[in-house]
Amino acid sequence: MSKPIPLLREGEMPYQPISLASMEWNKTGSWRYLRPRFENKTPPCNEGCPAGQDIEGALVLIGKGKFLEAWDLFKEENPFPGVCGRVCYHPCETSCNRGDFDESLSINALERFMADMALKHRRKPSLKKREKRPEKIAVIGSGPAGLTCAYHLVRLGYGVTVFEALPVLGGMLRVGIPEYRLPKKILGEEIDQIIELGVRVEVNSRLGADLSPDDLKEYEAVFLALGNHRSRRLGIPGEEAEGVMSGVEFLQDVNLGKKVILGKRVAVIGGGNTAIDAARAALRLGSKPIILYRRTREEMPAFASEVHEAEEEGIEISLLTSPMRVISQNGRVSQLECVKNRLGPPDEDGRRRPVEIKGSNYVLEVDQVIAAIGEEADLAFLPKKLGAEDATVPTDERGATKQNGVFAGGDIIHQPHTVVHAIASGKRAAIFIDAHLRKQKWEGLFEALRVGQKGSLSMKRYLQEESERAPLSDKTVLLKDLNLDYFEYQKRLKMPKAKTSRRTGSFEEVNLGFNEDMAVEEARRCFNCGVCNLCDNCYIFCPDVAVQKGKEGELNLIDYDHCKGCGICMEECPRDVIVMEVEGR
Ligand SMILES: Cc1cc2nc3c(=O)[nH]c(=O)nc-3n(C[C@H](O)[C@H](O)[C@H](O)COP(=O)(O)OP(=O)(O)OC[C@H]3O[C@@H](n4cnc5c(N)ncnc54)[C@H](O)[C@@H]3O)c2cc1C
Ligand code: SF4
Ligand code: SF4
Ligand code: SF4
Repeated sequence: MSKPIPLLREGEMPYQPISLASMEWNKTGSWRYLRPRFENKTPPCNEGCPAGQDIEGALVLIGKGKFLEAWDLFKEENPFPGVCGRVCYHPCETSCNRGDFDESLSINALERFMADMALKHRRKPSLKKREKRPEKIAVIGSGPAGLTCAYHLVRLGYGVTVFEALPVLGGMLRVGIPEYRLPKKILGEEIDQIIELGVRVEVNSRLGADLSPDDLKEYEAVFLALGNHRSRRLGIPGEEAEGVMSGVEFLQDVNLGKKVILGKRVAVIGGGNTAIDAARAALRLGSKPIILYRRTREEMPAFASEVHEAEEEGIEISLLTSPMRVISQNGRVSQLECVKNRLGPPDEDGRRRPVEIKGSNYVLEVDQVIAAIGEEADLAFLPKKLGAEDATVPTDERGATKQNGVFAGGDIIHQPHTVVHAIASGKRAAIFIDAHLRKQKWEGLFEALRVGQKGSLSMKRYLQEESERAPLSDKTVLLKDLNLDYFEYQKRLKMPKAKTSRRTGSFEEVNLGFNEDMAVEEARRCFNCGVCNLCDNCYIFCPDVAVQKGKEGELNLIDYDHCKGCGICMEECPRDVIVMEVEGR
């Protein structure tokens, strides 16, 4: 909520045309040609969140101190606000209108805050559910895609079993992302809530080894969410030497609490999240890591904040550097031959290609090499008719594969490899598996459930009867649509962090979260773009006293017998909620 306009008493009001007396006598008759209408629109933050969360709605609640209700709202769409509030790359913030005014809202930090409050108060999600249905569904893989799909399918009434290859649940959230970014307690709590809804889980059950595709015949639908767990090889001489390991293998061992003995000087190769996490984990285990990346910082696929935190912790990053050869002594890594690059023309993905600078080779003294140049899926065991190729399962816009009743999501389909996209694909699959099993037409669902225009879908709307669904506006409100006279500059609050000296010696969480006062203050910076927050500007400014207060929590009303169609209410609405339409004759 933004600051209310400071008109407390009549005497404080500036000179302006405000009607304080009755205008009852001044009826409009038939000459008005424009009429105002209240229409809530889409805030760009909501549209920007692939998980389709009602961010604006939650910020209003946080601003009023209703932290747990805000969490309830997020849980309608996403079982993992505590996870996302820590590791999501927050495209919602990039879309936030305040970003073009002063600084975007700290949405990610507020999401984490709500989840932490829910955990502190041992809040259980109060979720809308449908009646039980007879069909059973198998979900393969317990990463964010699989567990999100299971969460929503159970709410839609299905019996769901999740089969997971590893002995633990959570996929890369558990075995990839380290404790200092995502504490296992937070993840465990959110997974427990999914299981408590009635999802069955079978760990140590690898499809293709412990169970075969034929074992899934008893299920009416299958959701494949296997993730990318096989590291790409460096493809350089000597990489079979002892002391060369993959980033995912290393992080998995660290995350599973295995005893990992690393060398002193560790070269981590790659520029993605895995490389950064591997280096930061190695630092915490007492090694001195150096990251080698073949392009420049701008091309690094890792999130900029992660790179920044790694550098804060003193990790060296050698840019425009490629490994050429692993040199060993007695079968164990002792050196790494490297070469410097310059950037050449862009390649197929638009990033400039690294070109080796002849004669720039040099040797780095290392006793450990961690290869983190990317992961891919192992899909060789899948039935041929799924048409998997290039470690990807082809799907249509619903997430349906070429095999009837089999859907797929997360990192194994063609989409960005992020947690929030995995969550979005899990929810989408749940919706379209339901439509498939009910033999319903699905084409209209994208329009009926959309949150803005970028592909996010709302489970809350799906669970509503059609008649209950609020009308959807086609418009996403941008900064130019707001009346900025009503907003003041106010810097965004940043989350406190643990001191660097504490960070490097332990796996304790780095980011420390907002306290209640900070959360309320930050949430109140929100402009509520396109959504009426009952600020009552229209009520105050209407010269004909034609705006009437709605019931508690409802939109104001227009008294069309007295409204002259002057448009002042539309002009003075700070958040573009009022539209003027040509009068029907
Ligand atoms: C180190 C690291 C850090 C990352 N950091 C971030 C970050 O900060 N923010 C972000 O947005 N994204 C991050 N990512 C990416 C993110 O983790 C993935 O995009 C996301 O986890 C993909 O979800 P998923 O459900 O598709 O797969 P996964 O999370 O990979 O889960 C797949 C699950 O399927 C299981 N499985 C695989 N094969 C089988 C089988 N045959 N039978 C049964 N089970 C099987 C796996 O064991 C695993 O548990 C990171 C990735 C890594 C590796
Ligand atoms: S999940 Fe990501 S994009 Fe969505 S609200 Fe949270 S931080 Fe923003
Ligand atoms: S100001 Fe608030 S409603 Fe507007 S885009 Fe930012 S977070 Fe969303
Ligand atoms: S300000 Fe009042 S009179 Fe003017 S268009 Fe709005 S409701 Fe009608």
